[in-house]
Parts: sequence; structure tokens; C-alpha cells
Amino acid sequence: MGDKTKTRKKKPPRVLFVIFFGALFLASAVFGAAQEVYTTPYGGSYHRENCSTTSSSVTRKITVQEAALAGYKPCRVCKPLVVDAPAEKNAEAAGFYRVNIEGISSYKAAEISKMQKAVVTRHVDGDTVEVRFISKPAGIINQTEKIRMIGVDTPETVHPKKGVEAFGKEASEYTKRALLNKNVYIALDWDIKDKYGRLLAYIYTEDGKVCHNAKLIQEGYAHAYTIFPFQFLEEFKALEKEARSRKRGLWGDLHDNR
Ligand SMILES: [Zn+2]
Repeated sequence: MGDKTKTRKKKPPRVLFVIFFGALFLASAVFGAAQEVYTTPYGGSYHRENCSTTSSSVTRKITVQEAALAGYKPCRVCKPLVVDAPAEKNAEAAGFYRVNIEGISSYKAAEISKMQKAVVTRHVDGDTVEVRFISKPAGIINQTEKIRMIGVDTPETVHPKKGVEAFGKEASEYTKRALLNKNVYIALDWDIKDKYGRLLAYIYTEDGKVCHNAKLIQEGYAHAYTIFPFQFLEEFKALEKEARSRKRGLWGDLHDNR
């Protein structure tokens, strides 16, 4: 009797905990790795890391959920993990031209004939404006939307704590002059809205020749904003490098503080 009680009260040996949590850790590591897939700038499929069909392409690592949401299909050669993209997520940007899904490799290659037309109704600062779409959009996109331009960051003009940053005013004025009350064309990328509910977009001017996002960087009014991935990231980084080397705008001698 006494012996039995002793056995029952005995704690499980420490080694069991080690094995249990070790196995849990391994499982999550393996599962986590399986969630990562690879896309290429031109193809409509996503792949495993060492797929034979992507060996000569630049690949981009994303999660399988992101790949499915963006409309990529699992590769038929390497057969990566398959997940279902919720239909309502795909519908978020229904009818919008998305450069990631189209596999557009350069901002210059985007086709404005496929984009949604809008009028810029309000100017907020260098990288944020409000637009009104000509046709009524579907999904989570409203007729009037505040747009945060993808891949750029202009110096703040109205930041409550930082005040007016160097060159913020110039960037803001530049965007106002270029876009306010103008017809523009809107293209989207991976993410539809940010945490503030702003539509994340590229803004093309009416003749289709100028992508305002790129133009801001090119002219030295903005940094390339590379914290979140987007289709033209490498291209925008190169534009910033060039603007820096030519000391354009905020990279000029008068604005060396950034
Ligand atoms: Zn493949």
C-alpha cells in the first residue's frame, strides 16, 4: 500500500520533459520550414526551395499562405505544400490590377489600361493622398480611399512628435503639385491595406509614363521603404542609390542630416 502511494506521487523524470519539448521544437521547426515557398518574378506558380524549374531565376521567399492569397498556384513539378486561400481574402481587391499577381518585373512594365482610374481629391503629405475612384470598387476597397504609396517614405511633415523633418515640406509640395486634382491610375501589390486602413498602392500619372512612387525616390524626395516586401523593391533601392550618388533632393549637401 505504502509503496503504491509513493509510486503515484513520484514526479515524471526530467528526461521526459526534455524529450517532449525537444520533439515539439523539432516539429515546429520542420512545420515552419514547410510553410516557406518560393516565387519568381515572371511565373504564376510557387515552388519548393530547390525546384528544377526555378534554378536560373531570382526567387523570392514567402509563406505558402501569402502565395495562395496572391493567386500563385502550386508548381506541378516540385509539388509544394498546398493551402486553400480563403475566397473572401481574394475578393478583398476584386477587380484591381495587382503587379504581384501579374508578375510585373519592372514598374515601367505595368499597364495602365488595366488599372483603376481615380482622381486625387486631397493631398496629405509626400507619400499619402486621398483618391476617388471613377468606378465603384468591390471588396474592402471604398470609392474614396486614402492611399499610402508603396515602397517609399518621404520625410514627415506633420508628425506630432518629430515636427517638420528636413525636406518633408518639399516632398509634400512636390506630390501636391504633381497629383492634386489630377486623374491617376492605381495598381496594387502584395498587401491591400496597412494597419491604419490606408490602401497600399502605386500611383501612375494619366499618360502612364510616370509612377509617382518611383519618381519620388528618383528625384530625391523619398527613401525606398524596404521594411515590407513589394514587387519593385530591388528597383526602388537602385533608384535611391542613384539619387544619393547624384545628391538629389534630400541627399543634397544642404540636407546631409539624413
Ligand atoms: Zn517547382
